[in-house]
Amino acid sequence: MLMKSNTPSTAVVTTLVPARQTPAEDEGTPVSVKIRERLVAARKRFNANDNIAEFIEPGELEKLLDEVEVKMQGVLDSLVIDTAGDHNTNNTARRVAKMYLNEVFKGRYVPGPTITEFPNAEHLNELMIVGPITVRSACSHHFCPVIGKLWIGVLPNEHTNVIGLSKYARLAEWVMGRPQIQEEAVVQLADLIQEKTSPDGLALVMEATHYCMGWRGVKDLDSKMINSVMRGVFLKDSNLRREFLSLIPKNSSN
Ligand SMILES: [Zn+2]
Repeated sequence: MLMKSNTPSTAVVTTLVPARQTPAEDEGTPVSVKIRERLVAARKRFNANDNIAEFIEPGELEKLLDEVEVKMQGVLDSLVIDTAGDHNTNNTARRVAKMYLNEVFKGRYVPGPTITEFPNAEHLNELMIVGPITVRSACSHHFCPVIGKLWIGVLPNEHTNVIGLSKYARLAEWVMGRPQIQEEAVVQLADLIQEKTSPDGLALVMEATHYCMGWRGVKDLDSKMINSVMRGVFLKDSNLRREFLSLIPKNSSN
């Protein structure tokens, strides 16, 4: 239900959004309001970690960038920072807007990576482990970085689709490129991999440092959070689960 993004966006949007406004009325409406209206009309959730690409029309991302820049400038103004006189913060509003939309939260605004699935012609049925994949995100609570590592265990069957190893990293990057909650992120990613490949078993382990714990709050730089998701045979077969967990390096922090 969360991921629907491999479909081209424009065709869907046209059907969802009847031309309710004349161009003149439309003029002053912030682009974020227009996108929000489409989401509400389609009864789609738009939490921080949801992808909303199919509701954004061509050219709107650039307008969204301008809008976020203006609002970000407002934040800097309210922080009483002299962005006009201080050359360091002169262009910060624009830089932050770009960073959010085009980099760290890009996974909300662009469709998912194109993944070509192949039939399992070799009939692979051995446990396969991908990792460590470096994951970069930010927590939904504080917008502070969350940086960590991810391991994926897949037990294919003859009907499983096979995807290239690097594609797992692409899918992870897309899901993590949103303000996230680690326990929700692993589930979103598991759903996505499940949907693309339909393996007999799927296991994910994510270990991440939450900088909101180090930079603020308890100021504990060493605390890490570990989450796992087990699906299919990984749930039923404790030996398989143990095999997967034993193959993940114990001291993975370096
Ligand atoms: Zn946080």
